[in-house]
Amino acid sequence: METTSNLMDGKALAKRVLEDCKEKVARIIAISGVTPCLVTVLVGADPASVTYTAMKRKRCEAVGMTSMKVELPAETTTQQLVDQIQSLGQDAAVHGILLQHPVPSQVDERAAFEAIPGTKDVDGVTMHSFGTTSFGLPGFGSCTPAGIMTLLREYEVDLTGKHAVVIGRSPILGKPMAMMLLQANATVTICHSRTQDLPSLVKQGDVVVAAVGKPNFVQGDWIQDGAVVIDAGYNPGNVGDVDFQAAASKASLITPVPGGVGPMTITTLIQQTVEGAARGLGVDLT
Ligand code: NAP
Repeated sequence: METTSNLMDGKALAKRVLEDCKEKVARIIAISGVTPCLVTVLVGADPASVTYTAMKRKRCEAVGMTSMKVELPAETTTQQLVDQIQSLGQDAAVHGILLQHPVPSQVDERAAFEAIPGTKDVDGVTMHSFGTTSFGLPGFGSCTPAGIMTLLREYEVDLTGKHAVVIGRSPILGKPMAMMLLQANATVTICHSRTQDLPSLVKQGDVVVAAVGKPNFVQGDWIQDGAVVIDAGYNPGNVGDVDFQAAASKASLITPVPGGVGPMTITTLIQQTVEGAARGLGVDLT
């Protein structure tokens, strides 16, 4: 039976990390006289995207940073968006740039992401950030997988030599997740829609990360006894990618949806904006 003792509480950890961010922002302001600033860029008015960007700005302000919003019409072209992002990239008052995605279909999303300078890519979406993640160099991680790594560290999950199975290979989630787990010395298997016999691969996982985008997709009987199960899925109705009840009865640790991975994603964005601002302003936070 499911117990609450094996829950990984992302909400509680996020709260603690944000308190630390608030203290760091106060130090940055005291030392440099400058208030760190995150800009959110939104193209069109998709209701979910409007809500997400508002949440991100709210968190930003709650830790004492400034947030700025750039809202562009739904018919914005790739070139117009790239120009806008490049001008924010050159603005010394801006320390982090977040392009809310998905963008409307006429925009080349990758081209728009790549217009964000590496030093301001606090959402970790550029090829540069994927490269630094993969090479284990300093830089910004993609926020969802980086938040998952923070959660795994908090719960002292030893990844060395463990078999981690990642389901999903998107550029912002599955792939960087696999690279971060590899960097932490796990042996990693990446699964996707063409993978054969997914259940038997998942069953080998000491750590399983579900990043599929299909409600209750991962079944409880795919999970090895004692595995650590991370559900990155966020489907309509607050439903994850893992059949929670069944998986929780097998797992040693499991993230709930909501309250697991989700709060860590925004928190990582805030954390990386603080780090980026400190670096940009020459403030040593150590
Ligand atoms: P995505 O770009 O749609 O990628 C989904 C991945 O799942 C793809 O790699 C796809 O394989 C794979 N997949 C689809 N069907 C599969 C199947 N039957 N068997 C195995 N693999 C399959 O989605 P995403 O952006 O990575 O997001 C994944 C989930 O995480 C979504 O629920 C999303 O809402 C959630 N998410 C949550 C947060 C958060 O903050 N909590 C942030 C971002 C995303 P192919 O590559 O072969 O198509």
